[in-house]
Parts: sequence; structure tokens; C-alpha cells
Amino acid sequence: KEITDAPILIIGSGYGGAVSALRLCEAGKKVVMLEMGLNWEKSGIPFSNMLKPGKSAAWLKKKTIAPFMNIFSLTPFTGTLDRMDFEHINIWVGRGVGGGSLVNGGMAVTPKESYFKEVFPDLDANKFYNTYFPLVHKELKVNVIGEQFLKDCPYYKFTRVGEAEAHKAGFKTIRVPNVYDFQYMEKEYKNEVPRSAFNTEVIYGNNHGKNSLDKTYLKKALDTGNLEILDLHCVDNIKLNEDKTYTLNVQQTDTSGTVVADKVFNCTKLILAAGTMGTLKLLLKSNAVNNFPIHEQIGKSWGNNGNFMTGRNWVKPLSGGTGAKQSTIPVGGIDNWEDKEHPFFTEIAPLPMGMDVATALYLLINRVDKKGEVSYDSINKKLSLNWDQSNTTKMRENADYFIKKMNRANGGTRSHFLFNNGFGADVCYHPLGGCVLGKATNEYGKLNNHDNLYVLDGSLIPGTIGVNPFVTITAIAEYCIENLIRQNEFA
Ligand code: FAD
Repeated sequence: KEITDAPILIIGSGYGGAVSALRLCEAGKKVVMLEMGLNWEKSGIPFSNMLKPGKSAAWLKKKTIAPFMNIFSLTPFTGTLDRMDFEHINIWVGRGVGGGSLVNGGMAVTPKESYFKEVFPDLDANKFYNTYFPLVHKELKVNVIGEQFLKDCPYYKFTRVGEAEAHKAGFKTIRVPNVYDFQYMEKEYKNEVPRSAFNTEVIYGNNHGKNSLDKTYLKKALDTGNLEILDLHCVDNIKLNEDKTYTLNVQQTDTSGTVVADKVFNCTKLILAAGTMGTLKLLLKSNAVNNFPIHEQIGKSWGNNGNFMTGRNWVKPLSGGTGAKQSTIPVGGIDNWEDKEHPFFTEIAPLPMGMDVATALYLLINRVDKKGEVSYDSINKKLSLNWDQSNTTKMRENADYFIKKMNRANGGTRSHFLFNNGFGADVCYHPLGGCVLGKATNEYGKLNNHDNLYVLDGSLIPGTIGVNPFVTITAIAEYCIENLIRQNEFA
């Protein structure tokens, strides 16, 4: 087996991994990053769009896995979008250099300060709102769509209709910032540059326009000359050595998923940034197979960030409609968070199916009153998730309230076209928690019971943040790595 020694190793190239890499590289440290997915930029393979799914569409699957569009057959390839299926919930995640930033909708939402304080009572909210959130906005290249463009552009009819209907029903709407470059979008509308958001590209990757992590944090980190990214390298398990260093068993694959080399990596400092589900799997599996020490809080306080999908069909499709042409980049939301009885936020989501399906799609984000727990099932060798309908009861009530109020004001029916009973309780894009900051780790993400292991990703957030999470994940990672470096943890 090939053995590599790397002083500092990061597993995963999503938000937490990319922030850690940049700040460590800037501090002059050499960093090796292992990513199980493909380096798409280096491969030269283009991303496919939603209407013609190709290589990038799914992680080693024979069929597409996008919600509502799982009809296309595929040749298994290490694509960008993966889905982990549990009994009551399906969790979508991004794979590839850039992690979730490759597949996500780019919605860059800062949480409400009052909710941030409730979720993280021990953090200095002032510092976050004055320093880390503005820093993250700058690094991630967050921007906002021009109102005139939004008003005129046929690709945003779904947003205009969604907002008008929400107002008629008495809801408050908000403009949602994004990392997609809206100046690029205005040019693509005029056909001055190749189309991406207007060419149904998003959840299988964007060839243009979207400032995913490979264009921001990771690019800056690579430019220092201190970062090496090894793609198609999947960490299988971790061992703690007697001298408190770590040994990783790693499988290198080709793009068909076939293992081409079994490798061993030794490191002194290890950062787990494999995303909530990836990090939990590594910790819990390593505990099961290698007796790897883990703290009792690992796996606890897991949540779906209140994700709950629902939709509406128009009773009279011809009188309304959301438009045959739709941008894949959401820019509108409904903010009902202050309602004591039905607090939720919902994205007015696109449904770019290439025709006017007269259907509105909403991804609700609710509070998570009852958290779940993740553990490792040694017999079936997979993660198991303690999560069922009882965890989503209130979310369902909110969705029902929302749809009824919208239909009463505007007409329409709950969408049975999109979901069996009109409710998608099992759709989760935002798995969070299981390795909560200050509980399973110290105040800066250093894992309890370990001297040289850090967790810096979505698993630090206790199951809920009230809005789409990557801005918060990035800000928490900035805060943690800054303090860890200041404390000479990587000296
Ligand atoms: P990730 O970004 O998930 O990165 C983890 C990386 O680790 C991945 O690249 C993975 O391949 C790699 N990895 C995992 N296990 C291993 C292993 N064993 N060995 C090597 N590598 C490994 N959030 C928003 O804020 N706004 C949005 O608009 C939005 N839209 C979304 C749309 C979709 C379809 C999806 C799926 C998610 C969306 N999200 C959105 C959620 C957001 O993308 C995630 O919350 C975010 O990416 C999580 O960041 P992370 O750093 O925790 O990990």
C-alpha cells in the first residue's frame, strides 16, 4: 500500500473544508485535502443540465435522483449529486471538489439574529454580524438580483407570480441574495455569454455564472501554493495511534467507482469537513471498526433544518402559470418566521421542467422542535437515523396552513402532482448537527477526547438555523479556524 505522511490533512472540500484550507494555507501551512468526488474543473467534463442529465447528474447511480425528475437512465459515474436514503427521509448531498456548492441553489441567507442567538447562546452574535457574516459575503461573492431585471425577465415569472400570490394571501416576502453572478445572468439573458441558470443548470452543476467554492475559497487557497487536493480519494476509516496522530485508510477510485488503489495517509492534525453525514459516518464507523474514541454527544442533536417541501397546482392553469422558461436560481422567499403559531421561511423555488406545469414549488424551513439521532448499524454497515413522522409533525402543520392560506386567496390545490399526498416531508437538503459546537467539541470545533482532531462543517450546527445554511456554516468555520490558528493548534 502507498503510504503518505501529511502534517495537516482535511477530509472534504465543501464550505468547512475550503475555509479551513484557505486560512491554514495563508498562515503558511502545507495542507493536503482528500475529496471522494471528482475535480470537475481539472477533468474538463462539462456539467449536465436538468433536462438532459449526463455524467454529472448522479453519484454512481443507474437513474437520476433529482426530486420529481428521477426518470432518466444513466451510466454510473462519479456525478455531483448523491442521495442517502433512510426510512423516513432522503438526504441529498453534493460530491466533487467544492462539495455542496457545486449542486446547491446558491441562496446565501444570513440567519435572523434572534434565532442565531437562540441556537448559539454562547457565541458572540455581535462579532458574527459585524465581522464573520460580512467577511463570508465578500469571500463567497454574494450579490442580489437587480429589481428591474427581475421585473422584466420572463425567466422570473415564477418569482413574480409567487410574490404577488403571497402578498394577496397576506404574507411578507423577502429578496434572497445568491452567489450566482447576476451581472453574468443579465448578459446570458441577452445571449452575450453562454447560458447556465437559463439553461436548466444547477443541481448537476453550473458551467457558468455560479461562484461555487472552486472559484472562491478553494481557488484562493490553491493560489498560495500550499494546498494539494486529491480528488476521487474516499476515506474509509480513521485510526487513532498511540502517539495521538491519525492513520487513514483511503480508497482511490476511477470515475466508474472502481477502486484503483488502497492507500494509507498518516497525519498529525486532522480536520473533518466531510459534511454532516460524511463526518458522522467517519466518526461512528471508525468507532465501530477501530474502537476510535468518540464523545457521547456524537450523533446527537441532528436535524433536517426543518426542510419540508410542498407545492400547489393551479385549478385553472391557463389563468396563472409560473412560466415555461424558468431560471434555476431562486431569488424570492416568504418570511413568516415572526408568526408565533406558524413560524417558517419558504423559498419560492423554480421548477424548470421546460414547459409551464402551472405548479409552484416551495421548500419550507421550519424550527426543529424534536431532534433526531444518528448512529452506526454495524450489522448492515451503514448509518442509521432515528427520525420519523413525529419529528416533522409541526412542519407538516405549517405547510398545510401555508398552502391553505395561499389557495384561499389565489385558488389552486395542494400539489399531488409533485408529492404523493402533496407533502414532501422526506426531502432534506440541509442535514445539520450531530457534532455540535461546544457540546461534542470545544468552543472552536476541537473534538472532545482528542488532541489533534477538529470538526468544521454543518455537523457543528445543532440541527436548525432557520434559513438555508451555507452562509452560517462558512461563518462558523471562519470563526473556529481563526481561533484555532491563534491558539497555535497547528504550530
Ligand atoms: P459539504 O458541502 O457537503 O462538503 C462535504 C464534502 O466532503 C463533499 O464534497 C463530499 O464528497 C466529501 N466527503 C464526504 N465524505 C467523504 C469521505 N469519506 N472521504 C472524502 N471526502 C468525503 N444551502 C444554502 O445555504 N443555500 C442553498 O441554496 C442550498 N441549496 C441546496 C440545494 C441542494 C440540491 C442541496 C443538496 C443542498 C443545498 N444547500 C443549500 C445545502 C448546502 O449545500 C450544504 O448545507 C453545504 O454544502 C454543507 O457544507 P459542508 O461544509 O458541511 O459540507
